[in-house]
Amino acid sequence: MVDKLQKIWIDGEMVAWDDAQVHVLTHSLHYGIAAFEGIRAYKRANGKSYVFRLREHIDRLFDTCKMTLLKPEFSREQVSQACLDVLKANNMATGYIRPMIFLGEGAMGIYAPNNPVRTTVIAWNWGAYLGDEALKNGIRTKISSFARHHINVSLAKAKMSGQYTNSVLAKREAKFAGYDEAILLDPNGYVSEGSGENIFVVKKGVLYTPDLSSSILEGITRDTVMTLAREMGLEVRESRITRDQLWLADECFFTGTAAEITPVREVDNRPIGEGVVGPITKRLQDRFFDVVRGSDTSHPEWLTAL
Ligand code: PMP
Repeated sequence: MVDKLQKIWIDGEMVAWDDAQVHVLTHSLHYGIAAFEGIRAYKRANGKSYVFRLREHIDRLFDTCKMTLLKPEFSREQVSQACLDVLKANNMATGYIRPMIFLGEGAMGIYAPNNPVRTTVIAWNWGAYLGDEALKNGIRTKISSFARHHINVSLAKAKMSGQYTNSVLAKREAKFAGYDEAILLDPNGYVSEGSGENIFVVKKGVLYTPDLSSSILEGITRDTVMTLAREMGLEVRESRITRDQLWLADECFFTGTAAEITPVREVDNRPIGEGVVGPITKRLQDRFFDVVRGSDTSHPEWLTAL
């Protein structure tokens, strides 16, 4: 459960947590056209707090608006500032930030071109998305019976609320079956991503992840990991991955703002490699945490001070 904080930013105002309400006729609630983001702020070793890759998240938020034909009432600068303001208003040094641009009440029916476009930024405390144990020892996963959207059925590159029904169904199926997370294949049967994470495998020292023309979200953590891996001298290839390649991988891990770098130790009851966190995964995870909240200052362009 999200612990209640003090303030939420909505349509330019900082309001009390309990006053950030919407009407049940809110269009997005019925039809799922809403652009959103998930961003993390970390307190670093120097004692100061920074939002990680804020610009890239805000750019993706506005890209989602472009694809879904939502016209935001606020600029990128205003929404970025709201992300910082909402952390300050809640005295948060670390936390998860959720901007959302959605269609408000007015007309019902699918078209509703004149409904107000509303903007909110919420922040809450969120530890390890899949748990501390998951970060340390890895998780058990299952290939979902739900396929990821075909690229022309939905908008793979949009972080749009409606298409998360696919993720929720896959996640529930996996959890009800006793696994920690789902891995979705695309409609052609190739590995796509987790319900809220991109996926990487390691084979013979090379990193593989599905390429951007596949039905995956263009994850910002995915980009962070590819950049760090190359800096560490690792080869990274973006390519199609089959289910059996996944089962036969030496290592596997998920990436995401919420999931950070979560090792995958099992897929469909097959241990990945030795069934423990792999050495390359561990090295990348250590470097990642050093960059986001440690003392590695090699990427100042990724950090926005609070
Ligand atoms: N895929 C999906 C479906 C997601 O929801 C997320 C989380 N935003 C990701 C991948 C990872 O993206 P990012 O690293 O930008 O958080």
